[in-house]
Amino acid sequence: DFSLDASQSSEDHTIEHHLRPQLLSEFQGQEGIKDNLSIFIQATRKRGEALDHLFLSGPPGLGKTTLAGIVAQELGVEFRVTSAPVLDKPKDLAGMLTTLEDGAVFFIDEIHRLKPVIEEMLYIAMEDGELDWVIGQGPAARNVRIPLPSFTLVGATTKAGKVASPLYSRFGIDIRIELYSPTELSSVIRRSSGILQVEIEQDAIDFIAQCSRGTPRIANRILRRMRDFADVLGSGVITRDVVAQGLKRLKIDSLGLEHQDREILRSIIHHYRGGPVGAETLAISIGESVDTLEDFHEPYLIQQGFLMRTPRGRTVTHRAYNHLGLEMPEKRPA
Ligand code: ATP
Repeated sequence: DFSLDASQSSEDHTIEHHLRPQLLSEFQGQEGIKDNLSIFIQATRKRGEALDHLFLSGPPGLGKTTLAGIVAQELGVEFRVTSAPVLDKPKDLAGMLTTLEDGAVFFIDEIHRLKPVIEEMLYIAMEDGELDWVIGQGPAARNVRIPLPSFTLVGATTKAGKVASPLYSRFGIDIRIELYSPTELSSVIRRSSGILQVEIEQDAIDFIAQCSRGTPRIANRILRRMRDFADVLGSGVITRDVVAQGLKRLKIDSLGLEHQDREILRSIIHHYRGGPVGAETLAISIGESVDTLEDFHEPYLIQQGFLMRTPRGRTVTHRAYNHLGLEMPEKRPA
């Protein structure tokens, strides 16, 4: 089944390898972020030091891993990738830290999921450039400090709010990536079409951009599906018409909402009188995990003005009723 879920599928993994920008100049959109990063990178090169630790947050598929890889490439240093759930034991982190090349970019995805012991080791490594290691057991156990190669930690997360403040405060650079504008997504799609050598009309590019919920990974995924439709059902060229038909088949509407997004809005309207309803309750009623609801569905529904997060829970807006073709009740019962 086609899903817009912006977490990475195995097909994405293979194809994204080709489509992933390697240099800052190939990274489309996000001009403010690129400008700043470019200055930090130049300053770092001038001084010959490691770049300050970098915190990257934002919804999935916006290019956090890509940006970290670009930073390493631009600095000409090693790029080492891991993810918090993989760092289970102190030795897992120690093994990585001690084998980094000098100046390396060390990327930890889902940094909000680190275990407390690992997190504490990381504080010391980030701040003092040393590994705090326990030798021996029981009463004979003692701590030693082992010097580490210099490195830049890039911590990425979809949940900035869940990162413990002692960890967060050790990052010198804080970058929050926002959903892309349709114009920025058009550049992503144009670039990808060139690499994949697909023929596509400008109208079709803009149409896909409009329906890609602000997310490059989704734009690339829809582009590939449209190429299938154009190859099998059309002349091989992706036209606006091919996109219109293709999106219908994939049940994606003109604003990029998929079936599950509409279910979320419908559920709040029909079962909770338009809200407010808590995230946990809502997630259960649509058969989705709270994480998927919060990380994937909500940012776009909020950005499009369909949903609001209030202290008492989620509420739908007038625009949601309109989009679903429903009448908004005059006065909501308390
Ligand atoms: P996740 O946290 O889910 O891994 P992410 O934010 O790290 O997501 P990436 O894996 O870096 O996202 O990006 C997904 C894909 O989207 C990349 O392979 C790349 O092809 C494309 N992409 C992302 N950002 C851009 C961009 N600014 N310009 C061009 N392509 C991009």
